Amino acid sequence: MTLPHAVAPLRIHGFESTAPGPRLIVLGGVHGNETCGTVGIERVLAELDSGALTLQRGTLTMVPVANPLARQRHRREGERNLNRLFQPSAVPADYEARITNLLCPLLDRHDVLLDLHSFQSAGDAFAMIGPRDNQGGLEPFARAHEEGQLALHLGTSRVVEGWLDIYAAGLAQRAGLPGGAPVDDAALAFGWGTNEYMRSQGGYGVTLECGQHRDPAAPEVAYRAILSALRTLGMLAAQEATVPVAATSPAASIATAPALLRLVSVTDRAHEEDQFVREWATFDAVAQGEPIGVREDGTMLHAERNGFIVFPNAEALPGTEWFYFAVESDRVL
Ligand SMILES: [Zn+2]
Repeated sequence: MTLPHAVAPLRIHGFESTAPGPRLIVLGGVHGNETCGTVGIERVLAELDSGALTLQRGTLTMVPVANPLARQRHRREGERNLNRLFQPSAVPADYEARITNLLCPLLDRHDVLLDLHSFQSAGDAFAMIGPRDNQGGLEPFARAHEEGQLALHLGTSRVVEGWLDIYAAGLAQRAGLPGGAPVDDAALAFGWGTNEYMRSQGGYGVTLECGQHRDPAAPEVAYRAILSALRTLGMLAAQEATVPVAATSPAASIATAPALLRLVSVTDRAHEEDQFVREWATFDAVAQGEPIGVREDGTMLHAERNGFIVFPNAEALPGTEWFYFAVESDRVL
């Protein structure tokens, strides 16, 4: 497909302190219709430019709109989802592959990624982290503690773990493979987003889902999360490191550590007539045995245990993810 000439180039803002320190990159607009990260980044940029904030050490890079084509179209995707297949390619097949080829070397020059998103259904902001430290084949990792500390301090009431495990399990399910069977590497690579790439290069990353796409509080969540990340990493001057959280901010109402949830399963919508029994929001609690949805043939889906509905999508295309299920996690961050 030929692109219109008017697509904006990727805009990258860099701040380098002479004092060595962490290298943080913040992305907004990986999905074009998710604008809160862009607004949060522009606000931090303005404060750095005016001198209201000073980078005390390390490197801060911010990309307000990671997918300019998707943003121009006010859609989630330009030609496809930028947050899949996120690996460099020798012969980029589409616009997002070309953007990925620009972003990967940029991510390579950093240790820490904060990726700012929003979501479709109603629900509160939450952070998503990767696996626990492990040497397995799916996603080996050694920086779970640092990643957990970052997620813990972003101001959300919930942190969710377990994305790639469940993605792989979903692939196996769809392929009719028995549980635990290895999934085709190419198919699995499709599940790679920005964070998975960052971890594969020795860094770590947290996705912050700042709220519903049009939630007026979401840009504030994004802005405060960037400042919190800078503070947690010790990158702001001392006086700025103690900026109080405004009493009106959503973060202020979170008195204690966020609840930690673990994704345990994904259920596909099999048929256009598959219906939820009610309109679910992300993190709606369900008790074991509670009805969740009805299949086209009348089969009722019940919660297999006490847990929470995550990313419900009543409009999911048959053969794609209908909802995820999460339980309380025993992990300690
Ligand atoms: Zn997104």
